[in-house]
Amino acid sequence: MPSIFDKILSGELSCHRVYEDAHTLAFLDIAPLAPGHTLVIPKEAREHLHQLSDESAAALGLALPRVARAVLAATGAKHYNVLQNNGESAHQAVPHVHFHVIPRLKEKGLGLQWNSGKLEDAEELLERMHTALATEEDPSL
Ligand code: 5GP
Repeated sequence: MPSIFDKILSGELSCHRVYEDAHTLAFLDIAPLAPGHTLVIPKEAREHLHQLSDESAAALGLALPRVARAVLAATGAKHYNVLQNNGESAHQAVPHVHFHVIPRLKEKGLGLQWNSGKLEDAEELLERMHTALATEEDPSL
């Protein structure tokens, strides 16, 4: 089923467009945490970040700093957060990859609780991660 963002991409739903290129679209969030809160999405229909093709991922890497500069210039904010949620339990509501660019303006912006722990079992984690990286396939194939 097409998500809200698919409908924005197809033009079925309108948006306040900030930026667009061949692979990405950025538009103002309808319920902003601060003025200028912008969403940057790939045109590729994927639910989670790790499912994106290299092409979309590269385009997002280019679009994000551009959009961040526009958000800072438009709002006068000096600081901001980039947030990207994957999965319901990680606070993802819309099942189409999206990055939030959220300026920090006085008391407005992203509320954050950072429950840091202690680095443990690093060698085992590294081994599993390196194996995953060495054997990964292009998700777009
Ligand atoms: P998530 O929790 O999935 O990371 O965030 C989804 C975001 O999409 C929310 O910040 C929400 O306000 C925004 N959003 C949901 N529906 C629409 C819409 O129809 N238009 C726009 N511009 N933003 C939307």
